[in-house]
Amino acid sequence: VVVLVIGGGGREHALCYALQRSPACDAIFCAPGNAGISTSGNATCIPDLDISDSSAVISFCREWSVGLVVVGPEAPLVSGLANDLVMAGIPTFGPSAEAAALEGSKNFMKTICDKYGIPTAKYQTFSDASAAKQYIKEQGAPIVIKADGLAAGKGVTVAMTLEEAYEAVDSMLVEGVFGSAGCQVIVEEFLEGEEASFFALVDGENAIPLESAQDHKRVGDGDTGCKFVGVLYAGLMIEKKSGLPKLIEYNVRFGDPESQVLMVRLESDLAKVLLAACRGELKGVSLKWSPGSAMVVVMASKGYPGSYEKGTVIRDLEEAEHVAPSVKIFHAGTALDSDGNFIATGGRVLGITANGKDLEEARDKAYQAVEEINWPGGFYRKDIGWRALSSKAI
Ligand code: ATP
Repeated sequence: VVVLVIGGGGREHALCYALQRSPACDAIFCAPGNAGISTSGNATCIPDLDISDSSAVISFCREWSVGLVVVGPEAPLVSGLANDLVMAGIPTFGPSAEAAALEGSKNFMKTICDKYGIPTAKYQTFSDASAAKQYIKEQGAPIVIKADGLAAGKGVTVAMTLEEAYEAVDSMLVEGVFGSAGCQVIVEEFLEGEEASFFALVDGENAIPLESAQDHKRVGDGDTGCKFVGVLYAGLMIEKKSGLPKLIEYNVRFGDPESQVLMVRLESDLAKVLLAACRGELKGVSLKWSPGSAMVVVMASKGYPGSYEKGTVIRDLEEAEHVAPSVKIFHAGTALDSDGNFIATGGRVLGITANGKDLEEARDKAYQAVEEINWPGGFYRKDIGWRALSSKAI
């Protein structure tokens, strides 16, 4: 099958890397892709394909006989790219706009929780600032304020004081800092505990977990008016006081950088599995993972998550990948300058992944590789102990 991956971050680089090892996959395109994907030969990048224009994507698929589209980021899913591709008869891994609203609208996600009795933080939704503040005053701090729509991971304020909470309400409902994504706010109970995430591949009827040790789990088609096909990722809080999990959020796509550690450990044929999901044939499928652990260390531009310089030169990536066969560097925000050097174009720039027989070995290899990289404009956290790092491990 010819596969088109939509997106241009570390997640898409990792997907292209896994697809390249997939026997069912004959050719891989990635739109727009990035410098790491194109130079590694994992896929042919199509930087000029406008992924917000469904008809352009459909024409591309027809021209190149694409038989599977894998949509990486949430924004095109929320705006309906998968609907249009499926209507055009192109198998697409990723949910329809209606189902993607589980991530695209926190209010919708909450109504689904209410309807199906899924435990979640107590909440109310407001579009009027004074009503929201009145409710906040009654509930007291700490309290959590969330923009309803997509806000690039910045739409949540965990307010420790009433003043902070009021400010968040004003910035969303009065100043409109998130535009229409912040026209409604969800005011939510503060949950204390440990966060965990769980993700599954879903074909509309069946779900298989993306971790070998978990049990199979069935996910119904929800109240979404259409079947969910894609990755359903549940962000959970294991509440300290009760020990029980509560749902914080759904994501409707592979997480990043989590996907990077998953893809280096995946031994199953990814294209075959994703096609099975598109066809509703995941029942009985189980995924094979390499033994041991994988870890990713994220390297970011100095200054991130605040303001940072763009265009700083990154050298010695090849040397870093040669530290050990299991080291793989995924690019999230790079480009090539006119001299052929990699330059940083974003905040999160590289994901340095390594496998090991255990987490310690994976961590040591990943850090050895990080130390080979010559990038004065970048930084990474060196804290020992993966929970505290800006990295994920499985
Ligand atoms: P992202 O997509 O970047 O994960 P988001 O904007 O979709 O973020 P959430 O995942 O809902 O937002 O929340 C972001 C973080 O805020 C959570 O990972 C958690 O640490 C914290 N958080 C969210 N809701 C609560 C809550 N009710 N109580 C305590 N902390 C919370």
